[in-house]
Formats: sequence, structure tokens, C-alpha cells
Amino acid sequence: MSEFYCKNCGQYKGVSRDHECPPCWQAVRPDYGDPEDESTFYKAFGEEAEDAALEVAERKFSDWEYPRDVEIWVRQNPSAEWLKFEITVESVPSFSASPVGVV
Ligand SMILES: [Zn+2]
Repeated sequence: MSEFYCKNCGQYKGVSRDHECPPCWQAVRPDYGDPEDESTFYKAFGEEAEDAALEVAERKFSDWEYPRDVEIWVRQNPSAEWLKFEITVESVPSFSASPVGVV
């Protein structure tokens, strides 16, 4: 992360000094963490619950090598209800060209 990324939320902010972090949510993977145990939670950032679920999935699970689904629960604070999201992870083909000479 460089100075161009917010140290708190990780968002690209460029050289802007008036960056405001999106709202912070609690997130948990119920099949991996424990919705009762705050030490297994992730911090997730997003304007809406869905954005926060996607943000934490992209940040934590983007290195998966094959498509998978992950369930992520988010809530705004400890007294709010968990909102459950099923996140689908797909890898997309990527093409690049490298010059190898002339004929
Ligand atoms: Zn921020």
C-alpha cells in the first residue's frame, strides 16, 4: 500500500486530502469464523451492507485460484442483526501480448 491508499479502509484516494472512509461494518465467514467471537471478525467497508460484503470478499479471497462461493455475514454494529450474503467468486480470462520478433 502506498500513500495513495487509505491506511484505514484501503480505498484508493489518490492525492486527495478530503477522503472519507465508507462506513465500517463487522463481517464474518460463518463456516470459518464464529459469529459470537469478535476475534474472528473482519473489518469491512462499504456504503451498504452488500458493498461491505463484496469489499471484504475481494480483499480477503481474491487470491483463490478457482471459482468458489463464500457466505459472508455483515452487520453495522454488535446490536444489529447479521445480514447474510452469498458471494460468488469467478476467475475471468486475461489476455496479454508480448512481442517476440519479426518474420
Ligand atoms: Zn479510508
